[in-house]
Amino acid sequence: MDKQEVLRRYFGHGEFREGQETLIDALLAGRDALGIMPTGGGKSLCYQVPALLLPGVTLVISPLISLMKDQVMALEKAGVPAAFLNSSLSAMEWRAVYDGLRQGAYRLLYVAPERLEAENFSALAKELTIPLVAVDEAHCISQWGQDFRPSYRRIADFLSSLPRRPAVGAFTATATDLVQRDIVALLGLRDPVRAVTGFDRPNLFFDVRQPRNKGTALLELLRQREGRSGIVYCATRATVERLCEALREHDIPATRYHAGLSEEERRQNQEDFQFDRCPVMVATNAFGMGIDKSNVSFVLHYNMPKSVEAYYQEAGRAGRDGEKADCILLYSAADVATARFLIESSSGGDLPPEKAEEVRRQDYRRLSAITGYCRSTRCLRGELLDYFGQAHAERCGNCGNCLGDFRWEDITREAQMILSCVLRVREKLGFSVGKTLIVRTLRGSRDARVLQLGLDRVSTYGLLAKVPAAQIRTWMDHLELEGYLRVDGTHDTLEVTGKARGILFQGETVSLPVRADRQPERSRRRKAAAIPPAEDGLYDALRSERMRIAQAEGVPAYVVFSNAALADMAARRPRSLAEFLEVSGVGEVKAQRYGEAFLQAIRAFEER
Ligand code: ADP
Ligand code: ZN
Repeated sequence: MDKQEVLRRYFGHGEFREGQETLIDALLAGRDALGIMPTGGGKSLCYQVPALLLPGVTLVISPLISLMKDQVMALEKAGVPAAFLNSSLSAMEWRAVYDGLRQGAYRLLYVAPERLEAENFSALAKELTIPLVAVDEAHCISQWGQDFRPSYRRIADFLSSLPRRPAVGAFTATATDLVQRDIVALLGLRDPVRAVTGFDRPNLFFDVRQPRNKGTALLELLRQREGRSGIVYCATRATVERLCEALREHDIPATRYHAGLSEEERRQNQEDFQFDRCPVMVATNAFGMGIDKSNVSFVLHYNMPKSVEAYYQEAGRAGRDGEKADCILLYSAADVATARFLIESSSGGDLPPEKAEEVRRQDYRRLSAITGYCRSTRCLRGELLDYFGQAHAERCGNCGNCLGDFRWEDITREAQMILSCVLRVREKLGFSVGKTLIVRTLRGSRDARVLQLGLDRVSTYGLLAKVPAAQIRTWMDHLELEGYLRVDGTHDTLEVTGKARGILFQGETVSLPVRADRQPERSRRRKAAAIPPAEDGLYDALRSERMRIAQAEGVPAYVVFSNAALADMAARRPRSLAEFLEVSGVGEVKAQRYGEAFLQAIRAFEER
C-alpha cells in the first residue's frame, strides 16, 4: 500500500491538502518534520498516514486526555487499531494496553507527556519498535505560547533514551518565529522539513458587531442557529455563569465551562457538548485546546479576547469539518477597558519586575492589535491574515465588512477640532501628549492631569463635551489610518502630519465609513449562516440515520461521519456500495460498517 491508497482506504479522502504530502514524505523517509497549519488544516493525517505504512507503533504525544479518547475512537471506526494511555484508565485497562503493545496490536499509541516519564513506560518503550513520534500541539513546549506545559520539556530526554531515535514530527497552529525556534531547539529536531500552510480558513465567515445590547444580540444569534452546535466565549467566569443561566431560561440548550468548576463538572459538561446533548457551550478561554469537535458551526465572542492570536485560535474551532461556519465577535468599548484592567492587575506571577513590565508592554501591543481588528472597516479576513503576515486579496467577499453596507459619514468638522486640539496642546506645552489627554481635553474633563497642565485654558477645551470618548477615539483612529495623525512609537504621543493642512486650511473633507449595522439580521443570514446544501430534506434524513447509529454505538455523531461527508452523500445519492465509497470522508471500513444503513436511508427517502 502507498500513502495515496492509505488516504483513500482508511480516511476516504481523494487527495492530500496543502502541506500534508511534504510532511508525510519526510516522516516516511525517516526525517524530522515541523508542520505549522491552522486548526482544522489536517495535521493529524500527517502522522496517521505514516503510522499505517511504517513498521511498529507510532507514538503520539498529546496534551489533552479528552482529545485522545476521541481520536482513538475515530481511528478505530476507520479500521485503524489504536490505543491511548493516560490517567483516566484503570489499572486493568492499563495492563490490557501494555499487553496489546507487546503483541504489536496497535498502529498508534496516544500518550500524555507526563506518561513518558513513568518508570514502567520507558522500560516498555525500549522493547517496542517506534519508527515515529508525533508531537501534537508542539507549541506547549514554549513559554512564549499561551499553553506552556513543563512536561513537554522532557520529551527530548525521552527520545534520546530510546535505543533507536525515531523520526520526530512536531505539529502546531501557532505561527510565531519565537515559538517555532523553541520547538526545534527544545525538542531537538534534526534539520526538520518544514511545511507552513496558509492560515486562511475560507469556510469561516468573520464578523464584528457592536450591538446596543449584547444579551439581546446574542439571544437573536443563537435563535437563528437553533439545532446547531457552537461556543460562546466570555472574558470572565462570572459572565459565563450569568449568560449560561440566562440562555437556559430562554430554552437554549447551553452548558458551561471555566476553570472554577469542579473537574467532574467540567468533564460532564464537555461531554454533554461533545455528544450534542447541550450543543451550546458558554465558556472562558479555559475551554479550548483539544476540543476536537468537528461540527462546531459557530463561535461567538461575547467579549473581545485579549489578542488576535487568541481570537484566531478560538474562532478557528468552528468549521473544522470544512463546512461553512460563523465567527462573530460582539464588541463594545467597555471590553477594552476590561482588558486594560486585567493587564494592569495581573501580578506577573513570580517574574522579576523588569520581566513583568516587558510582559505587560507585550500585552498592551496585543490588545491594541485586537482592538484594531474590532474597529476595522476593511476586510476582516484581510486584517487577520495581515496579522499573520500572509498575503491576501483586498476583499474576501465572506466577512461582515465585505458584505456589510457602509455609509460614509462626513467628519470634517470633528477632524478639524481634533487636529487643532493636538496642535494647540503642543503649542501650549512645548511637547506632545498621548491620545488619552487629547480626548479628555476635547471632552472638557476636570481630570487632575488636564488641570495641572492647564489644558482647560486651550481654545479647543470642551469642544466635543457631549461626545463619548470611544467615538472620539474612533475618529482619531481613522485620522491615523488616513495619515493625518501619527503616533510616535516610543512615547505613544500624537503628532499632526503635513497632510493635515488640507483639512485644516484648504477645504479638504474627510469621511468615515460606518457600517449600517441596524440592517435587519435576516437579510444577511442567508449568506452568513451554515445552511446545509441539500434543500430537499435528504440531508436531514441522513442526519437522523447518523444520530441513530451514534446513539446505538454510544459515540458522538461526527465520529460516524462528518457533516461534510453527509452533505457530499446527499449530493451524490449513492445507490451501491461502490458509489458509496466515492463519497468524501468514506473509507473502506466505514463503508463496510455503515454503507448498507445509509444506502437504505437514501432508498427510503427516494421512495417516500
Ligand atoms: P487539525 O488537527 O490540523 O486541527 P484535523 O487533523 O483534525 O485538523 O483535520 C480537520 C478535518 O479535515 C478533519 O475532519 C479531517 O477529516 C479533514 N481532512 C484532513 N485531511 C484531509 C484531506 N486530505 N482531504 C479532505 N479532508 C481532510
Ligand atoms: Zn472580507
